[in-house]
Amino acid sequence: CGIVGYIGTRDSQAVLLDGLSKLEYRGYDSAGIAVFTPQGLQISKAQGRLAVLASRLEDEPLQGTVGIGHTRWATHGKPSDVNSHPHTDEAMKFSVVHNGIVENYMELKEELIEAGYIFVSETDTEVISHLIAREYDGDIVKAVQRATSHMRGAFALAVLTEYEPEKLVAVRFASPLVIGIGDGENFIGSDIPAILQYTRRVYILNDGEMAVLTKDAVELMTLEGNFISREMIVVDWDA
Ligand code: GLU
Repeated sequence: CGIVGYIGTRDSQAVLLDGLSKLEYRGYDSAGIAVFTPQGLQISKAQGRLAVLASRLEDEPLQGTVGIGHTRWATHGKPSDVNSHPHTDEAMKFSVVHNGIVENYMELKEELIEAGYIFVSETDTEVISHLIAREYDGDIVKAVQRATSHMRGAFALAVLTEYEPEKLVAVRFASPLVIGIGDGENFIGSDIPAILQYTRRVYILNDGEMAVLTKDAVELMTLEGNFISREMIVVDWDA
């Protein structure tokens, strides 16, 4: 139901929790984050209020300066720890948060199971992490483009892979997403209030577009890989 992402130099866990708290008003049943830590990609997620996740993270913090976060409003699979986002592949190399519905997830799931992929959740979202793992050959941007070309439905995504931890990928297809531009840091949010505490400079993604964020730059392109230029919006209101 809500997506956030951060890449920069701050403690990402704090930024992600803060952004997710701004998205609480949308309603949700679970929350989670994935962070690239010195031990690799790590995920913490839990059914229930954001406070459940926050106290878990207080006991076992995820340290790192790049991460993605999610509040879930379950559409496929009951609210539970394992159905919470982020979702990942078996090797835990790719993490995905998703808003919306993958309408053809059943046929994709059957195809992936047939090919030997092992699913742990009941969600439509989990097909995305396995699809990206299947399509990956050294370029996360191309892998996400190829994965989404198989998907129908509505989706906003944020993707973080341990193979290219200096990058975050964001996708918008019939589910809203904005990109916040900072100095030496960049942000992803489902809406502007989620990131407004950190920056007022924003790109609004349109349907069928994606963004590739590093801490120092943002590239916008279509899901077909054509680069686009977009005017930056400077937000002059307060949340
Ligand atoms: N369809 C996904 C799920 O049920 C995402 C729901 C959402 O937008 O929060 O896990």
